[in-house]
Amino acid sequence: MRIATGGISHETNTFADGPTTIEHFLHEGGHPGLRRGHEVIETFAQARIGTGGFIAAAEDLGMELVPLIWAFPQPSGIVAQDAWDELSALLIERLHSAVPVDGVLLDLHGAMVTEELEDAEGDLLARVRDVVGPDVPIASTLDLHANITPAMVRNANALVGYDTYPHVDAFERGVEAAQIVAGAVEGRHKPVAALAQIPMLIGPPKQCTLISPMQDIIALAHEIEQRPGIICVTVSGGFPFSDIHDVGASIVVTADGDADLAQSTADEIAATMWDRREEFRLDLVAVEDAIAQAIESGEGPVILADGSDNPGGGAPCDGTVMLKALIDANAPRSTVAIIADPEAVAGAIAAGVGNQATLTVGGKTDNRHGEPLTLTGYVRAITDGNYANRGPMYTGMPVAMGRTAVFVVGGVEVIMTEHRAQPFDMQAVRSVGIEPTDRLIIGLKSAVHFRADYQNIATSIHDLSTPGIHNPDVTLCDYQHVRRPIWPLD
Ligand SMILES: [Zn+2]
Repeated sequence: MRIATGGISHETNTFADGPTTIEHFLHEGGHPGLRRGHEVIETFAQARIGTGGFIAAAEDLGMELVPLIWAFPQPSGIVAQDAWDELSALLIERLHSAVPVDGVLLDLHGAMVTEELEDAEGDLLARVRDVVGPDVPIASTLDLHANITPAMVRNANALVGYDTYPHVDAFERGVEAAQIVAGAVEGRHKPVAALAQIPMLIGPPKQCTLISPMQDIIALAHEIEQRPGIICVTVSGGFPFSDIHDVGASIVVTADGDADLAQSTADEIAATMWDRREEFRLDLVAVEDAIAQAIESGEGPVILADGSDNPGGGAPCDGTVMLKALIDANAPRSTVAIIADPEAVAGAIAAGVGNQATLTVGGKTDNRHGEPLTLTGYVRAITDGNYANRGPMYTGMPVAMGRTAVFVVGGVEVIMTEHRAQPFDMQAVRSVGIEPTDRLIIGLKSAVHFRADYQNIATSIHDLSTPGIHNPDVTLCDYQHVRRPIWPLD
């Protein structure tokens, strides 16, 4: 069986500055960028992502994969329309050349917004459906932060969302999507999907599936997947930093040939989540309080999660509020990972390893993530910033932070990079010569993903209330387009 595969992904933070251009898709680093045709297979054959799951499953299922394109830049602002037009045309052209195919497997994120489209994935799925016709099964993996829309569900036979946040099951969901498509091609089932949107905006820390209530909702989804006639249940937490009509949590149920069963089951899970909404309220800590507690305890590593400046959700990653608080508190044995500031990196490289330098660090993208800091310190290391993840999330995926410098100011070392990249894997710090288990405090520009790799070494974890455009407290967002009423705004 011949199965076309590909994906164009983006997590669009509509509050972030500037459009995301084709250059971001091609060159921004942090993520692998654009891959075409056979490059898709070569890049991801060993990667624990959705496409890696398709590749692994294809062999077992007797599928011949026809790779189209794969692109996923670092999350950022609204996607430029010409970038979307160019990339989506590239995928659709290659699909035209690939047909006839027996099925389609897409690896999408589910929260992309372009200058003209609130729902880029809905647009893409509709165009894919147009090319392959009504009878060819289409399945896509989705991130747990997808804002799932009626158009997406209408144009796919199955949407297989990650069941985990941190996202450690992308590969398994890829395998599952491939199995669903294979079963449809072979006539063993007839997948039909239904959507229940839940009027809830959930701050990222409370979407974490390692803790209740989200852990319980996912357990319920798995229980329901065992019912006769149910093929797949997807629970999406939503990406609350996309200011669009369809933003928020949702449930997609795929049933075997029974649209009514799919809908009633999705409604049932949605009602449970809605009933438990008060449990989704946040517990955030002031950065000064978290640092004081860590210094008093003396036992590390204490993890500070600066989720408000998480580049994995489109934030600039050059915010200085956490770094300033650590320096002001004279915190010992502390690391900040990372501050993306090419100018500061260039300054460190000009000064050279082993030398003192005075650099202006961070706070340069906008005025929502703290002021630039002028710091005198010591340049301990300069690296190329390349590593591959070794922790449980996206294992094997290459990361390019760009040229990277470790700059030491008193007891605080700051990892400065050219590119934005969410440092959720310990390789982000180990690759520059820092051993995380030796640290008292590690401040991470990550909301939740770091928990996959750090939870076993952390003595405690604090979700900070720092300012920023990925602030977990969604009541601080200036929404204009969200459908109302919606919890917890109304
Ligand atoms: Zn996500």
